[in-house]
Amino acid sequence: MTNSSLSDLPQLSTTQSAALFERAKVVTPGGVNSPVRAFKSVGGVPRFIASAQGSRLTDVDGQTYIDYLGSWGPMILGHNHPRVAKAIAQALTHGTSYGAPSAGEVALAEQVCRLTGAQKVRFVNSGTEATMSALRLARGFTGRKYTLKFRGNYHGHADSLLVEAGSGLMTHAAQLGAAAPGSAGVPEEYASLTLVADYNDADSLRRLLNERGHELAAIIFEPVVGNAGVLIPTPEFLSALHGAQHHGCLLIADEVMTGFRQALGGATERLSLRPDLWCWGKIIGGGLPVGAYGGRADIMDVVSPLGPVYQAGTLSGNPLAMAAGLATLQQLEDTPGVYQQLDDYGAALAQGLREAAQQAGVRVVVNQLGSMLTVFFGIEGDVTRYDQAAAADTAQFATWFQAMLTQGVYWAPSQFESVFISAAHTQADLEHTLAAAARAFAAVGEM
Ligand SMILES: *Cc1c(COP(=O)(O)O)cnc(C)c1O
Repeated sequence: MTNSSLSDLPQLSTTQSAALFERAKVVTPGGVNSPVRAFKSVGGVPRFIASAQGSRLTDVDGQTYIDYLGSWGPMILGHNHPRVAKAIAQALTHGTSYGAPSAGEVALAEQVCRLTGAQKVRFVNSGTEATMSALRLARGFTGRKYTLKFRGNYHGHADSLLVEAGSGLMTHAAQLGAAAPGSAGVPEEYASLTLVADYNDADSLRRLLNERGHELAAIIFEPVVGNAGVLIPTPEFLSALHGAQHHGCLLIADEVMTGFRQALGGATERLSLRPDLWCWGKIIGGGLPVGAYGGRADIMDVVSPLGPVYQAGTLSGNPLAMAAGLATLQQLEDTPGVYQQLDDYGAALAQGLREAAQQAGVRVVVNQLGSMLTVFFGIEGDVTRYDQAAAADTAQFATWFQAMLTQGVYWAPSQFESVFISAAHTQADLEHTLAAAARAFAAVGEM
């Protein structure tokens, strides 16, 4: 029954997407406004999306897909959720931007503080702005210049953070404490202020903290990694992280992906972490461009206009974006059992994928926590460290991805990304996905 090769699967029309891609390439680098959308690592024509509703994406050629991309994380309620759509429509009747404070910013900040334990929050317009600002703040607050990140963690594209930065970048064989820039245009001098360590390596982290903890303004980390594919932190590693605080080094939980996803209070709630600062993005804007950083009031009060750390934004706290974010968080809070359902669906999808792969004789490791999941191809044993993830078979993944796409399942177009389950996914969606996956694994088995 699963005995099909890729060529037996239906071929979908890509005429309209291909035409748009050609036009786009003339006026936009690579035809896209964020690199991984170009399908470079999986091949084929990137689908131009015409509309999205619930768990479905529809492309400009009229094909509909079960969506596991979720706009890379924000769409936890599914697309065009009625409550969020209504909140945006209502806000729109009052205008689109004021450049002066408005009530929505207060309401969303209160909601975020209440849900996460942060004492004060500042809104920005993307996750990148949030992490960039949080690091500046950490440096301003501590008077120290070095920061530490983990190999394969991605924190947006600010200069000092484009070091060993996961999915979107190639890796460098940098030594502990001697990181190379992950992008042209990032001076070595910037990169040299960012130390790099291995995620889930508690011993080396403890050693590094003993040697250099007193020089570090902050450690920034993904509390559950999504940007190297899903990596789940070990308790030992999390405990070693907290050791940073004894050296006066701030802990910055980058919850841009995990915030309001791993639990209403984010991965820090789920894993009982006590960061000094948080960064948010994605879900906090309900599908509109929002980021935020926040945490201890004594630290946040160093931000302008109260303190000497400058940070500003023309469109920050935008009323439409605040309305979308607030409606999303309220809907999550008002839906009892929503996180249990996300967890259950995540676990069922992970287990179903493992079984389907095994039946097809394809070796995979499926990492899953809550509604985040990655299928690592061609790997034996566990994937807890970045070097293990990086060894995955990207050719097998590309074949599998294409086979899923032609069967109407839109997976994240990279081996080193998480997919996302939303509250709009149904049992029938999962069944369709697993049936498609069985055929896709069979296609991989014939490679
Ligand atoms: C997506 C992401 C970012 C960057 O957010 P943008 O809104 O794309 O700038 C930062 N950190 C993490 C953990 C992310 O997943």
